[in-house]
Amino acid sequence: MYGDTNKPTDSAEAELTRVTVLGLGLMGSALARALLAKRHPTTIWNRSPGRAGELVSRGAVEASSLAEAVAPSPVVIVCVSGYKATRQIVEPVGEMLSGRLLVNLTSGTPADARAVAAWAAERGVDYLDGAVMAIPAVIGRPETLILYGGSRAAFAEHAPTLTALGGQSTFLAEDVGVPLLYDLALLGMLWTTTAGYLHALALVGSAGVDPADFLPFATAWSEHVLTPDLADTAAEVASGEFATDVSSIEVNKAAMDHLIEASRTAGVATELVEPIKSLLERQVEQGRGAESLASLIELLRQPEPSVAR
Ligand code: NAP
Repeated sequence: MYGDTNKPTDSAEAELTRVTVLGLGLMGSALARALLAKRHPTTIWNRSPGRAGELVSRGAVEASSLAEAVAPSPVVIVCVSGYKATRQIVEPVGEMLSGRLLVNLTSGTPADARAVAAWAAERGVDYLDGAVMAIPAVIGRPETLILYGGSRAAFAEHAPTLTALGGQSTFLAEDVGVPLLYDLALLGMLWTTTAGYLHALALVGSAGVDPADFLPFATAWSEHVLTPDLADTAAEVASGEFATDVSSIEVNKAAMDHLIEASRTAGVATELVEPIKSLLERQVEQGRGAESLASLIELLRQPEPSVAR
């Protein structure tokens, strides 16, 4: 079920389905703009007045109330600042949404999404929860990725409409929490990788190295070391086999000690790398120093009670 790449295909349905967009912030407006560009009849609504003008000039119909916004459309998209706002919008029109498809493209946690999915199921509302893996400027492009979870049947039925928002619209799972887990997992990779890169720039910068001079080495390292390692790590985590003939936890711990000492000497903060050192030390203490770096997954899955949330 997970990773199922049911890619929508074009059809005349994309020109026929009326869609309502609730929330006209930066992302909501971009979604409405993309629907209008594909000639979907589009109804729009926003809590505060004054955000509809440009969309109305492109052909959108502005509704003066939530009920008026929901009434004409079999597909209702909500994209606002959080799930609290989502619930404030959809709950008063819960009965009206029955028999329609509610597509929630608001960011949040898997628990948020599952709670709205349960609310929708109780009312006979078809529900898809999506994670928009893109910025407003690229909404509607063929390469734009939006990940969906929820009703597989609704995704299949409305795939052409969803394609208007992002050509790489992909159904992941009936569990609506899964797209948001992908979203947060990838953001976590972005933040930790960017932070590691900034630590690297600070370190080499302490010797006067210009970021532009370091860039080709960082790029090659990413391409030839980090990226291939993703597949190896995936295989190790899937199998639970962490024997290595490449590089052990012990070897990495020694290198980490050097990195921390060199950072301190250079006046570079070590707070980014200290938690990794602590994971390496815990694994050595458990007698697993000969295993591969991928074995750290077992510590991440079973955090210390003091850091578990
Ligand atoms: P935004 O520009 O700040 O717009 C927020 C929208 O939420 C506005 O329409 C606002 O209405 C509405 N809103 C907030 N509280 C509300 C409430 N209690 N009741 C009704 N409406 C309420 O945010 P955005 O960039 O469009 O982001 C919307 C969602 O898309 C967020 O979950 C965000 O994480 C996600 N997203 C955004 C991007 C991006 O690059 N922008 C990328 C991926 C995902 P008012 O005008 O009345 O305040």
